[in-house]
Amino acid sequence: MDTLPKPETLPETPLRPLLASLLTNGVIPLAEGDESLTWEVRALSEALLDANSSPEQGHFSSRLEQLAERMKRIGSEHQAVREALLNLLRLIVANIRELVIDDKWLHGQLSAIAETFSGPLNLRALDDVGQQLREVIDKQSRLKRELTEAQSRLKTMLAGFIDCLSEVSGTTDEYNELLVRSVRRIGEASNIAGLSDVVGELMLGTRQAQETTQRAGQELAELRERVESANRKIARLQRELDTASQLVRHDPLTGVLNRKGLAEAFTREVSRVRRKASPLCIALIDIDHFKKLNDEHGHSVGDDALRHLTRTITETLRPQDVVARYGGEEFIILLPDAAIDAARAVIARLQRELASRIFQAQGGDPLPITFSAGIALLSADESPEAAISRADEAMYAAKRAGRNRVFTAA
Ligand code: GH3
Ligand code: MG
Ligand code: MG
Repeated sequence: MDTLPKPETLPETPLRPLLASLLTNGVIPLAEGDESLTWEVRALSEALLDANSSPEQGHFSSRLEQLAERMKRIGSEHQAVREALLNLLRLIVANIRELVIDDKWLHGQLSAIAETFSGPLNLRALDDVGQQLREVIDKQSRLKRELTEAQSRLKTMLAGFIDCLSEVSGTTDEYNELLVRSVRRIGEASNIAGLSDVVGELMLGTRQAQETTQRAGQELAELRERVESANRKIARLQRELDTASQLVRHDPLTGVLNRKGLAEAFTREVSRVRRKASPLCIALIDIDHFKKLNDEHGHSVGDDALRHLTRTITETLRPQDVVARYGGEEFIILLPDAAIDAARAVIARLQRELASRIFQAQGGDPLPITFSAGIALLSADESPEAAISRADEAMYAAKRAGRNRVFTAA
């Protein structure tokens, strides 16, 4: 007679192999390296498959209950880990989004990823997220490369800029040191923030250097003004000195050379004519009866007469001829490149000129002035004094001969 299976025992088939399969294929993967759990599940599964064993239901039930309890714990742990991982992933995505400054595409991708995480997760969604993340990583590394290139271009540009700055004239040592330091720091900078620090310091330094240069420019302008005013003063003093030295060499009454001026001019003319081997004549002229003119018309008329004579001489003679006041009413004329006859002709012409330019006294009276002259031709190796002395003798001879004449020396 049929008997119902004992309620204490599990049915023979088909549940035992199915349960064993569930344990092996469904539970062991969840054990994730928990050796004691894996061992227990395997043992239980093998016991279920053992056809000869007929363990009591109570025994299986209690082992399955314990297993269910452990699996429940593991399940909630897995759930917690999954939640934690998802949170971590969300955090990472949000963080990347913060890092990407202005790339719309990247922002779009990251928003899509973030959205995927907000809904229920499945393999398809996770695959999509994986793909999107790979693209994000690609794009990120491309951007990073571009950024590095841009950074190195910026570095090169900055270095060039600093080179230009250092070439600007008027930079101070301090500023040059800043430039050298900046070039080094630019070379060492590994990111934009480092570069912007250098640029900041550089800008400040440049502004200060500019101010210094401006100040230096002002000081320079003041210095230039002082130098110019000193130059003006020097020029004025030079002019005064020239005038003074002119006074030293010229006769104040007539403006022609005095004895000192004559001595210098004589030396100069002698060396010049000797170098050229050309003649030099010396004429000494003395106003006739000058004492009488002074006595009759006054000293100042006498002075006017002296000026009248020198004016006539300078206007009649050649520019290279030298006129000097030798004494009171005695004048010496040096006639370079003139042989004795030519010199005599020149002085005779001067006599005629003086006769035609009638001197008038301050009262308006015409006062004819004449002079007597002696001319000497400078001989080789003759001193100026010796030649003047011969001219003087000739002049006295002219006086003795009746005045208003020109005599040549022997
Ligand atoms: P001679 O024809 O013999 O030369 O007679 P002289 O009167 O010209 O000769 P003397 O040497 O006797 O007189 C020269 C005069 O010239 C004397 C002096 O008063 C005058 N004399 C000298 N220097 C100056 C001067 O600077 N101004 C004036 N007005 N007269 C002067
Ligand atoms: Mg005289
Ligand atoms: Mg005289």
